[in-house]
Formats: sequence, structure tokens, C-alpha cells
Amino acid sequence: MAVFSHADFADHEGVYFAADPESNLRAIIAVHSTVRGPAAGGTRFWRYESDEAALTDALRLSKAMSYKNAAADLPLGGGKAVLIYPEGEFDRVSLFEAYGRAIDRLGGTYITAEDVGVSPEDMDIIHSQTKYVAGLSKGAAASGDPSPVTAEGVFRGLKAGVRHIWGSDDLSEKTVAVQGLGHVGYALCEKLHAAGAKLLVADINERVLERAEASLGATRVESQDVHVQKADIYCPCALGGALNAQTVPDIQAKLVAGAANNQLASAEIMPLLERNGITYLPDFVLNAGGIINVATEVAGNYSQEWVEQKLVGLEATISKILRVADEEGVTTLQVANRIAEDRLKRE
Ligand code: NAD
Repeated sequence: MAVFSHADFADHEGVYFAADPESNLRAIIAVHSTVRGPAAGGTRFWRYESDEAALTDALRLSKAMSYKNAAADLPLGGGKAVLIYPEGEFDRVSLFEAYGRAIDRLGGTYITAEDVGVSPEDMDIIHSQTKYVAGLSKGAAASGDPSPVTAEGVFRGLKAGVRHIWGSDDLSEKTVAVQGLGHVGYALCEKLHAAGAKLLVADINERVLERAEASLGATRVESQDVHVQKADIYCPCALGGALNAQTVPDIQAKLVAGAANNQLASAEIMPLLERNGITYLPDFVLNAGGIINVATEVAGNYSQEWVEQKLVGLEATISKILRVADEEGVTTLQVANRIAEDRLKRE
């Protein structure tokens, strides 16, 4: 398996492979940058079709964390870990303990938190083996599940996008298609519903769809068709790659604003979105609420006020990106990348 010649290897400072046969642990911890501080980013627990696919995810996600943390102006570098879902039986506690020991061996270069497939309780198990973990459910500085704050950040950024396109952030006449009703997606739907938006929702989990229909008056659509719906706004909140050469030409929405990491399948997708008249809010800026929440825990003194200030900053950054992109005739991604890259330069 290629690492240094891998297409997504972006001069990562370190890529660590951890295994523990007794607990079935197989993990890849990718540290993209520690220029701004310890590399921080969640752990994803997922069934990968190959080790190669797991590595690709770790490399891409860790680089995105560097950009996310820099764009949110956090004193954190970028890293991410993937935990490969074991084949057959396994003991979750032993697995997360072994994973905690693997993180501890890195001595603070990498600090983990939740991502897809893991919970605050899993973070507590990791915490039994290492202090380099955040998003805990208990303890003096515990910030808990970052997802509600991620959803709040996405919601505020989305409204900035709506204001930019339609001149007002009134959502009562808007239809929003949401893919993925997990921790973030469902919380986002609740906010959109409360603001009067009409919801079209897709997930592969029947239970959450029933809940959204019953509680939020949402209409369910097939996941493979969610992007083709006649909606004003499309929110990819499942996994990465929702915006690709097959989906973009069929997207009806004028605005894409979702929580998923790495929504663009490749660099060529951004001009395609532009050509189709779709405004894209860069994912790594929009979904930073969770890491903002985690950052205050890492600092050791959880502060609601600081989180609020940062969320106000997130919305302002989205507005600035939209304005500068228009003024300079460049893409929103170019502006967002520039903001992050300026802050990632070594002094
Ligand atoms: P989650 O695991 O709670 O939810 C993901 C949801 O997507 C699940 O309900 C799942 O059934 C659904 N799903 C999976 N494949 C699907 C498909 N093909 N079509 C439709 N639905 C599908 O994860 P989450 O924490 O809500 O995170 C969602 C996305 O946001 C991820 O990309 C994650 O990396 C990103 N993100 C999350 C946070 C956070 O604070 N949790 C922060 C930043 C970014």
C-alpha cells in the first residue's frame, strides 16, 4: 500500500499504523500539521472495503482538519484517525482501550474526539488510557458530544448563505433536502423545522426517517435521489463525496450547505458547481462547531461564552467568503483555502 506516493499524501507530518491482535484493533492515525498546535480531529469507526480506502480517508480527513482548525482560528493542528471496524466478534471496551494506548504512545502529538461511529462513552474508554482525548461525557472540562454545536454552526452558516443569495434569511418559504439524519443531520433538521423550512430527508436508517416524519413533518426521499429533489438548499450530512461528477449536474438547489466532511469528491467538482450556478459553502469552515467545542475542552476550561463567540466568528467567516468570492470572481473554496493556508504557514 503506497503511503508517500499516495495521491492524498500532502506532506503529512506523520502517519501512524496501530494494531493489537487481542482486541482486533487496526487504526490509522494521520497527523497532517502541528504548526498551530497539537493535531486535533475525531476518530472515525467504519467498515472499509480495504486498508487503502481507510488510508485515503485518514489522509484526506486529517488535511481537512488542519484547514478547519486554521479557518476557525483555533490553536490546534490537524489530524484524524480511522478505526477499521473488525470482521466478526469483538469487545468494544478492549478495542477502545487498545486504541487509547496507541494514542498515548504519540505523547500528545494527536488529540482525538468523536467522529462517525463513535460516542462520548467511547471517548471515556479512551480516556482510561490517555489524557489526549476530548469530547468526554464527564469531568471538569468535559464538552460532551460535539454534534449539537456542529449543527448550530452549520445552521448559522447556512443562514448566512441564504441571506447572500435571497437577501433575507427567512427559511419559511424554503425547501431543504438533507442527506443523513445522524447526530448532526437530525439536529440540523430540528433547527430548520423550527425556522419553518420544509424538509426532504434521506437516510439508510429507517428509524430516524420515521422519527423525522413524525416529529418534523419531513418527507422522506431515496438516498440516491436526494440531490435531484426540487429544493432550494441541499445539506449533505452523511459521508464524504456527495458532490461528484454524477450528482452535481442533477442538483436542483441553489445552495449547498452541509455538515459532511470532504463533500467534494475531487478538485474538479468546484468549477462544475460554479457552472451549474450552485453556491457551495466550504465544508471545513461550515462544520467547525464541533471542533470549536472540543477546543475549549482541550484548553482545560470549557467556556460556553467562548464557543458562542467562535460560532459568531464562523458565521462571519462564511459571509466574508461569499463576499470576497463575488468581489474577486473566484470560488468560495479558493477564498476559504486562502484563509486557512495563510494561517498554516510556518513562521
Ligand atoms: P452519524 O454517524 O451520527 O450520522 C451519519 C448518518 O448518515 C447516519 O444516520 C447514517 O445512517 C446516514 N447515512 C450513511 N450513509 C448514508 C447514505 N448513503 N445515504 C443517506 N444517509 C446515510 O454522523 P454525524 O456525527 O452526524 O456526522 C455526519 C457528517 O458530518 C460526517 O461526514 C462527519 O464527518 C461530519 N462532521 C461531524 C461532526 C460532529 O460533530 N459529529 C463535526 C464535523 C463534521
